[in-house]
Amino acid sequence: SASSQPSFGLIGLAVMGQNFALNVAEHGFDISVYNRSGDKTDDCVRRAQKEGLGDRLKGYHELSDFVNSLAKPRTVMLLVKAGAPVDATIEQLSGLLEPGDTIVDGGNEWYMNTERRAKEVAEKGFKYMGMGVSGGESGARKGPSLMPGGPAESYAHVKPIVEACAAQVDDGPCVTHVGPGGSGNFVKMVHNGIEYGDMQLIAEAYDVLKNVGGLTNEELQETFTKWNKEELDSYLVEITSKIFARQDDQEGMTGGLVDKILDKTGMKGTGKWTVQQAAEYSVALPTVAAALDTRFISGLKDERVAMSETFEPLGLGAPKPKEGIDKAQLIDDVKQALYCSKICSYAQGMNLIRAKSEDMGWGITLGECARIWKGGCIIRAVFLDRIKQAYDRDANLQSLLVDPEFAKELADKNAAWRRVVALCATEGVPATAMFASLAYFDANRRARLPANLVQAQRDYFGSHSYERTDREGWFHTVWSDEN
Ligand code: NAP
Repeated sequence: SASSQPSFGLIGLAVMGQNFALNVAEHGFDISVYNRSGDKTDDCVRRAQKEGLGDRLKGYHELSDFVNSLAKPRTVMLLVKAGAPVDATIEQLSGLLEPGDTIVDGGNEWYMNTERRAKEVAEKGFKYMGMGVSGGESGARKGPSLMPGGPAESYAHVKPIVEACAAQVDDGPCVTHVGPGGSGNFVKMVHNGIEYGDMQLIAEAYDVLKNVGGLTNEELQETFTKWNKEELDSYLVEITSKIFARQDDQEGMTGGLVDKILDKTGMKGTGKWTVQQAAEYSVALPTVAAALDTRFISGLKDERVAMSETFEPLGLGAPKPKEGIDKAQLIDDVKQALYCSKICSYAQGMNLIRAKSEDMGWGITLGECARIWKGGCIIRAVFLDRIKQAYDRDANLQSLLVDPEFAKELADKNAAWRRVVALCATEGVPATAMFASLAYFDANRRARLPANLVQAQRDYFGSHSYERTDREGWFHTVWSDEN
């Protein structure tokens, strides 16, 4: 009801916090809010009043007033900048909260920070959760995908609010108790890594269609709009189609806005963490790694311009639209290449989550991860329902690549995928993520790789010994009389 004392409060009223707070209020929960700088608190309260939610959302300028406004046991969610600001906020809260209260950090936090903080605050009798929140500004307001990790009893406590506020899809709210400890942050981190991969794959599709196929922005917009009605139906494909339609918004300027945007990609770190974790667990994650590497290269704009000037006179210029290319065929091939590459990328991400979950004893259900990503988040896509179904068929699936339905699709689309990769290679289109995905597929389905030669080399120079195909045990050969 509008008059009861809220038990839920939110600290941090930047983009995510303001919108999530309004979402909570809209779903009938009373909420107290606080921000270090009071102007954002006032903004949030004004927005709530404007939207008719002023009875349910109360803002405070003093942290102690904020805490005292909450009924016990309290739940305080943080949406402040990840890292040191979270520690600083917890430090201030610690003197005010009481045993039995729960802190939920909704930031993009490194999972080990969550595990450390959970231990630190447990000494004071507080419970702690790390909850990944995806969907950007509009997700936070209208329904994000939520990835909470921490004690089951704490989850039970926040469940009614998070289930009401999450995106709703055909099989429920896009939230689940991911697991204990930092598992929620970890799954959110891998989600972001997969997001890097998806964005890079779409950028490569754009590159080959524009620079080899000669498609105009109008044709690109039509292509992506059509794709968004088919198996590639997804948020990122949808916004991409809209980006191609947008005209330059600067005074007196004309033409497509996308053509004026500097080709240097920013990043905040979750993609890098994902690749580091994959290396830590010896899980191959080449599609996301390619996306990350390509962001690094994109940042070296001056060096790239200089290198283009080295190779241009040597006959290696930028890709040019090919005379007489069959555009319709190319568009269809690129669609299939994008889809197959995505399957490989998700297979890699899911296998990383599984490796981590097994090591940490988190008990993460991969099908549930796919389900809660069906709505609200940046990687939401019709495709995620297919992944969920694959894990429903076999929860212990070794890889998405061997699910019978995905395997059949990979086989059916395989020729088109290879045509695109080959075309990119001959025309000089750096389709790093598509190349990486195809090589991942081919490596994983090879019964015999050339790793035998690498083993021979290791034994030659380092006496590392090798196993044989035909008998048990480890063998060493004296390869040369030099050593
Ligand atoms: P943000 O820019 O990451 O952080 C701004 C907020 O942090 C403000 O409330 C700010 O307070 C507070 N803050 C900064 N330093 C502080 C300190 N030392 N002590 C106390 N408070 C401090 O905000 P955001 O973009 O809304 O993101 C919030 C969290 O959600 C982040 O972890 C972010 O990575 C994650 N996230 C963001 C998005 C997105 O689309 N933006 C999507 C998913 C997840 P002041 O107003 O006083 O400066």
